[in-house]
Amino acid sequence: MAKRVTLGTAAAVPGTIQYGRWDAITHPTGHVDFMPVIIAQGKADGPCIWLTAGIHGPEHAGPSVLYQLITQELVDRLRGTIVAIPALSPAGLRTQQYVPYHLPKNPNRMWPDGKPPKPQDPDKEAPSSVELAFARLFDSLLETADYMIDFHNASIGSISFVFRDRVLYRADQNAEENRKKAVALAARQDAMIEAYGHTVVTEFPAKHYIKEDLHRSTSGAALLLGHVPGFTAELGTGLMPDAAIVAAAAAGTRNVLRWAGMLDGGLEPISGIKIADPGFRTRRSPATRVDRPCVVLHLVQAGDIVKVGDPLADLRDIWGRPLENNILRAQHDGYVIGRAHGIYFYPGQTVLYLSVRDEDPIVAPYPKDYFQ
Ligand SMILES: [Zn+2]
Repeated sequence: MAKRVTLGTAAAVPGTIQYGRWDAITHPTGHVDFMPVIIAQGKADGPCIWLTAGIHGPEHAGPSVLYQLITQELVDRLRGTIVAIPALSPAGLRTQQYVPYHLPKNPNRMWPDGKPPKPQDPDKEAPSSVELAFARLFDSLLETADYMIDFHNASIGSISFVFRDRVLYRADQNAEENRKKAVALAARQDAMIEAYGHTVVTEFPAKHYIKEDLHRSTSGAALLLGHVPGFTAELGTGLMPDAAIVAAAAAGTRNVLRWAGMLDGGLEPISGIKIADPGFRTRRSPATRVDRPCVVLHLVQAGDIVKVGDPLADLRDIWGRPLENNILRAQHDGYVIGRAHGIYFYPGQTVLYLSVRDEDPIVAPYPKDYFQ
């Protein structure tokens, strides 16, 4: 008996691809933003994976992966169900902006936070339209999703990579049991990411991860609150999707389906993209900055492995003359995720995105006062 999976007006029919709408936000003008829903279900039973994209308006590679991936030919071989949403932020995609015009905040930090409900503080705004929509969508995700992937883009020319969320657990009650479950969940997440086969960047250490509200990202909330193994896939350049990265992400996703028992056969090779593997675990780092206004001539490219002391950039004045101590050097071992856009920088600005050696645990307790 096939799983009954429905979302909005779309309802799974075994052996087919169904299309529908999920009403997300009603504007004061009466207009409704819906999220487009695609439900692809194989004739044979199997797990359910949610594939989401388009939460940031200038990031067009993720929707492209979904359009390329979900075909009748795939459904003919599929066991289980794919629920795909190519436009989590219709307002952002409409204007090609990172944030919705009616709520200029990062929507990928607006999923439920898991804190106990509190009486509304009259001096604070009530939950926003986006938070209310995501809270409803999250309930639907928890009803059906066994796995999930949320597709994004990082910066122009960056490599394709996975952001692996930390797995946080409650230590204020049943700490040992919760820790064991978190360790098991992290192992599932790890195996799923390995099947996808692209470069892996672990998120910030736990305290910084919470401070940045990354636990309220799409994949973070699904993993931490829903215990749904998954990850964020970053697919290089956003507004000019790279065909090789899109194809490699579709192949990586099919490999995840194989790992999950939803497709037969061995893993496809991931080819045509750079994969950075320095031989140790690495994490997100915001730290490569300049200390003065300058022109930056980058000496490394996305995907390059770097060691402490390696030259990263040559700092010049506007005439092109080298500044004093003009070579910016690596402070950490790791690799280059991508260069920051442009060559002109103010003091304190980041000029490169590096993934650096990670010595913090993947599984960690929530901060002590989190649930108070
Ligand atoms: Zn994004």
